[in-house]
Amino acid sequence: MLSTNGKTSRIKVRDKFFNLYLEKEKIDRIVSGIATCIDLDYQGKNPLFLGVLNGAFIFASDLLRKVKIPCEISFVKYSSYQGMASGEKVNRIIGLNETIRGREIIIVEDIVDTGLTMAKLLGDLKAFEPASVKIASFCFKKEAFRENFTIDYCGLEIPDLFVVGYGLDYDGAGRNFPDIYQLDETQ
Ligand code: 5GP
Repeated sequence: MLSTNGKTSRIKVRDKFFNLYLEKEKIDRIVSGIATCIDLDYQGKNPLFLGVLNGAFIFASDLLRKVKIPCEISFVKYSSYQGMASGEKVNRIIGLNETIRGREIIIVEDIVDTGLTMAKLLGDLKAFEPASVKIASFCFKKEAFRENFTIDYCGLEIPDLFVVGYGLDYDGAGRNFPDIYQLDETQ
Protein backbone atom coordinates (compact mmCIF):
# COMPACT_ATOMS: atom_id res chain seq x y z
CA MET A 1 0.00 0.00 0.00
CA LEU A 2 1.44 3.42 -0.99
CA SER A 3 1.03 6.60 1.10
CA THR A 4 0.87 10.13 -0.39
CA ASN A 5 4.68 10.48 -0.45
CA GLY A 6 5.04 7.26 -2.43
CA LYS A 7 6.23 5.22 0.56
CA THR A 8 4.91 1.75 1.22
CA SER A 9 2.91 2.47 4.37
CA ARG A 10 1.79 -1.08 5.08
CA ILE A 11 3.64 -4.32 4.43
CA LYS A 12 2.94 -7.98 4.99
CA VAL A 13 5.71 -10.18 6.37
CA ARG A 14 4.70 -13.81 6.50
CA ASP A 15 1.28 -13.82 8.19
CA LYS A 16 1.43 -10.35 9.79
CA PHE A 17 0.84 -6.76 8.70
CA PHE A 18 3.18 -3.96 9.70
CA ASN A 19 2.75 -0.18 9.39
CA LEU A 20 5.47 2.30 8.40
CA TYR A 21 7.19 3.62 11.54
CA LEU A 22 10.48 5.25 10.50
CA GLU A 23 11.52 6.20 6.97
CA LYS A 24 14.95 5.48 5.59
CA GLU A 25 15.78 9.20 5.27
CA LYS A 26 15.27 9.62 9.03
CA ILE A 27 17.23 6.44 9.71
CA ASP A 28 20.08 7.88 7.64
CA ARG A 29 20.10 11.13 9.65
CA ILE A 30 20.14 9.20 12.94
CA VAL A 31 23.07 7.02 11.80
CA SER A 32 24.98 10.15 10.67
CA GLY A 33 24.45 11.66 14.13
CA ILE A 34 25.83 8.57 15.85
CA ALA A 35 28.84 8.49 13.50
CA THR A 36 29.62 12.14 14.27
CA CYS A 37 29.51 11.48 18.02
CA ILE A 38 31.82 8.47 17.65
CA ASP A 39 34.26 10.49 15.51
CA LEU A 40 34.45 13.09 18.28
CA ASP A 41 34.71 10.61 21.15
CA TYR A 42 37.36 8.40 19.52
CA GLN A 43 39.72 10.99 18.03
CA GLY A 44 43.25 9.58 17.97
CA LYS A 45 41.95 6.09 18.74
CA ASN A 46 41.33 3.05 16.59
CA PRO A 47 38.17 1.38 17.93
CA LEU A 48 37.06 -2.11 17.03
CA PHE A 49 33.37 -2.22 16.15
CA LEU A 50 31.68 -5.46 17.10
CA GLY A 51 28.46 -6.03 15.15
CA VAL A 52 25.95 -8.48 16.61
CA LEU A 53 24.61 -10.78 13.90
CA ASN A 54 22.20 -11.18 12.32
CA GLY A 55 20.13 -8.08 12.97
CA ALA A 56 22.86 -5.44 13.16
CA PHE A 57 24.49 -6.13 9.79
CA ILE A 58 22.76 -3.26 7.97
CA PHE A 59 23.13 -0.68 10.77
CA ALA A 60 26.78 -1.72 11.18
CA SER A 61 27.54 -1.32 7.48
CA ASP A 62 25.81 2.07 7.31
CA LEU A 63 27.55 3.29 10.46
CA LEU A 64 31.00 2.14 9.33
CA ARG A 65 30.68 4.03 6.04
CA LYS A 66 29.92 7.26 7.92
CA VAL A 67 32.62 6.99 10.59
CA LYS A 68 35.77 8.88 9.54
CA ILE A 69 38.29 7.88 12.21
CA PRO A 70 40.53 4.83 11.69
CA CYS A 71 38.60 1.75 12.84
CA GLU A 72 38.07 -1.96 12.34
CA ILE A 73 35.00 -4.18 12.44
CA SER A 74 34.31 -7.73 13.45
CA PHE A 75 31.07 -9.63 14.07
CA VAL A 76 29.76 -11.91 16.78
CA LYS A 77 26.77 -14.18 16.84
CA TYR A 78 24.86 -16.07 19.51
CA SER A 79 24.11 -19.58 18.43
CA SER A 80 21.31 -21.40 20.15
CA TYR A 81 21.86 -25.15 20.23
CA GLN A 82 20.80 -28.18 22.21
CA GLY A 83 23.11 -28.85 25.14
CA MET A 84 24.22 -32.26 26.35
CA ALA A 85 21.47 -32.47 28.93
CA SER A 86 18.17 -33.31 27.29
CA GLY A 87 16.11 -30.28 26.36
CA GLU A 88 18.73 -27.87 27.70
CA LYS A 89 19.08 -24.73 25.55
CA VAL A 90 22.51 -23.16 25.51
CA ASN A 91 23.45 -19.81 24.01
CA ARG A 92 27.05 -19.79 22.94
CA ILE A 93 28.83 -16.83 21.40
CA ILE A 94 30.82 -17.25 18.18
CA GLY A 95 33.42 -14.76 17.00
CA LEU A 96 35.01 -13.40 20.19
CA ASN A 97 38.77 -13.88 20.19
CA GLU A 98 42.12 -12.49 21.27
CA THR A 99 41.85 -9.46 18.97
CA ILE A 100 39.58 -7.95 21.65
CA ARG A 101 42.33 -7.67 24.28
CA GLY A 102 43.36 -4.08 24.99
CA ARG A 103 41.06 -2.66 22.29
CA GLU A 104 38.45 0.08 22.50
CA ILE A 105 35.28 -1.86 21.65
CA ILE A 106 32.04 -0.39 20.30
CA ILE A 107 29.26 -2.99 20.24
CA VAL A 108 26.85 -2.40 17.35
CA GLU A 109 23.34 -3.79 17.95
CA ASP A 110 20.07 -3.39 16.06
CA ILE A 111 17.79 -3.25 19.06
CA VAL A 112 17.97 -3.49 22.85
CA ASP A 113 14.70 -4.82 24.25
CA THR A 114 14.88 -6.38 27.74
CA GLY A 115 18.68 -5.99 27.55
CA LEU A 116 19.36 -9.65 28.40
CA THR A 117 21.28 -10.36 25.18
CA MET A 118 23.50 -7.30 25.62
CA ALA A 119 24.08 -8.03 29.31
CA LYS A 120 25.29 -11.52 28.36
CA LEU A 121 27.58 -10.14 25.66
CA LEU A 122 29.03 -7.56 28.08
CA GLY A 123 29.72 -10.38 30.55
CA ASP A 124 31.33 -12.60 27.91
CA LEU A 125 33.46 -9.72 26.60
CA LYS A 126 35.04 -9.10 30.01
CA ALA A 127 37.01 -12.36 29.80
CA PHE A 128 38.83 -10.96 26.74
CA GLU A 129 40.00 -7.86 28.66
CA PRO A 130 39.09 -5.02 26.29
CA ALA A 131 40.44 -1.55 27.16
CA SER A 132 36.88 -0.15 27.08
CA VAL A 133 33.41 -1.12 25.89
CA LYS A 134 30.67 1.19 24.60
CA ILE A 135 27.33 0.33 23.05
CA ALA A 136 25.69 1.70 19.90
CA SER A 137 22.13 0.44 19.44
CA PHE A 138 19.86 1.71 16.71
CA CYS A 139 16.60 1.06 18.63
CA PHE A 140 15.93 0.93 22.35
CA LYS A 141 12.70 -0.28 23.94
CA LYS A 142 13.01 1.66 27.18
CA GLU A 143 9.74 0.33 28.64
CA ALA A 144 10.89 -3.28 28.25
CA PHE A 145 14.46 -2.70 29.51
CA ARG A 146 15.30 -4.73 32.63
CA GLU A 147 19.10 -4.36 32.91
CA ASN A 148 21.26 -1.51 34.18
CA PHE A 149 23.94 -0.89 31.54
CA THR A 150 24.10 2.38 29.62
CA ILE A 151 23.52 2.64 25.87
CA ASP A 152 26.20 5.16 24.92
CA TYR A 153 24.92 5.80 21.39
CA CYS A 154 21.17 5.27 21.18
CA GLY A 155 19.55 5.92 17.81
CA LEU A 156 15.91 5.88 18.75
CA GLU A 157 13.73 5.04 21.73
CA ILE A 158 10.68 3.11 20.55
CA PRO A 159 7.54 1.82 22.29
CA ASP A 160 7.39 -1.82 23.35
CA LEU A 161 6.02 -2.97 19.99
CA PHE A 162 7.54 -5.43 17.53
CA VAL A 163 9.35 -3.83 14.57
CA VAL A 164 10.82 -5.17 11.31
CA GLY A 165 13.00 -3.81 8.52
CA TYR A 166 16.46 -2.24 8.45
CA GLY A 167 17.97 -5.61 9.39
CA LEU A 168 15.25 -6.58 11.87
CA ASP A 169 13.30 -9.73 11.03
CA TYR A 170 10.06 -11.47 11.73
CA ASP A 171 10.75 -15.20 11.67
CA GLY A 172 13.74 -14.65 9.38
CA ALA A 173 11.88 -12.43 6.91
CA GLY A 174 11.62 -8.66 6.42
CA ARG A 175 15.24 -7.68 7.11
CA ASN A 176 15.58 -6.21 3.61
CA PHE A 177 13.06 -3.37 3.98
CA PRO A 178 15.01 -0.05 4.04
CA ASP A 179 12.42 1.55 6.35
CA ILE A 180 11.30 0.34 9.79
CA TYR A 181 7.74 -0.99 10.24
CA GLN A 182 5.77 -1.61 13.41
CA LEU A 183 3.43 -4.57 13.99
CA ASP A 184 -0.20 -3.66 13.37
CA GLU A 185 -1.76 -4.83 16.61
CA THR A 186 -5.32 -4.44 15.31
CA GLN A 187 -5.06 -7.50 13.01
P1 5GP B 1 16.76 -8.52 24.39
O1 5GP B 1 17.72 -9.59 24.84
O2 5GP B 1 17.28 -7.12 24.59
O3 5GP B 1 15.40 -8.69 25.03
O4 5GP B 1 16.47 -8.76 22.88
C1 5GP B 1 17.43 -8.51 21.94
C2 5GP B 1 17.15 -9.22 20.63
O5 5GP B 1 15.77 -9.56 20.47
C3 5GP B 1 17.48 -8.29 19.49
O6 5GP B 1 18.83 -8.36 19.14
C4 5GP B 1 16.54 -8.79 18.41
O7 5GP B 1 17.13 -9.88 17.75
C5 5GP B 1 15.32 -9.30 19.17
N1 5GP B 1 14.25 -8.28 19.21
C6 5GP B 1 13.82 -7.59 20.29
N2 5GP B 1 12.83 -6.74 19.96
C7 5GP B 1 12.62 -6.91 18.63
C8 5GP B 1 11.72 -6.29 17.69
O8 5GP B 1 10.88 -5.42 17.98
N3 5GP B 1 11.83 -6.70 16.39
C9 5GP B 1 12.70 -7.66 16.01
N4 5GP B 1 12.70 -7.97 14.72
N5 5GP B 1 13.57 -8.25 16.86
C10 5GP B 1 13.53 -7.87 18.16
